[in-house]
Amino acid sequence: MARYTGAACRLCRREGEKLFLKGTRCNSPKCTLTKRAYAPGDHGQGRVKLSNYGVQLREKQKVKRMYGMMEGQFRRYFAQAAKTKGVTGKVLLQQLERRLDNVIFRLGLAVSRAQARQVVRHNFVWVGETRVNIPSYQVSKDEMIKIKGTEKALNKLKENLEATKDRSVPTWLEFNPQAMTARVARLPEKEDIQATIQEQLIVELYSK
Ligand code: SF4
Repeated sequence: MARYTGAACRLCRREGEKLFLKGTRCNSPKCTLTKRAYAPGDHGQGRVKLSNYGVQLREKQKVKRMYGMMEGQFRRYFAQAAKTKGVTGKVLLQQLERRLDNVIFRLGLAVSRAQARQVVRHNFVWVGETRVNIPSYQVSKDEMIKIKGTEKALNKLKENLEATKDRSVPTWLEFNPQAMTARVARLPEKEDIQATIQEQLIVELYSK
């Protein structure tokens, strides 16, 4: 699956808010957005009045970038959400939040979603009795997630836990850091996402 490999901080500057793409650096004074809080490019410091379309587009780009996706994949998530029973915007957010790489990030086992994706790709994650190395895998209620790996790998994940200890694990996940296991206690709701997202803007954009 293709992914963006350019400068992460540029994406935050474009959206005008922290997307937390670079782990511990994001909460430090080294965060680029604290030093250059304007859009990238030659005209980044100019004043721009966004049209309705522009506002919708920026919201979609923000969420897409936050979860580390490309346009095609994000569109497929939207199409799937539109077909699913329920409020499309909320279903979309739920699907994004249920991704296995996001779960690893939420548990604090990775400092960023990009790193969480690597943890999954490198075969450290088991769901139930099966090893799962697909970052987009959708977790379901009552599934058990277990981390297994070499001592060196587990020590690195424990370091990540220490680095992310200020972040709280959302209540839809029951985490046992000693055993390195987690249970999906329920499916996530919009309120569980620790970011301001106006999902109806994304629905409006894709419904044109
Ligand atoms: Fe965004 Fe993190 Fe870079 Fe700050 S350090 S601009 S939050 S990616």
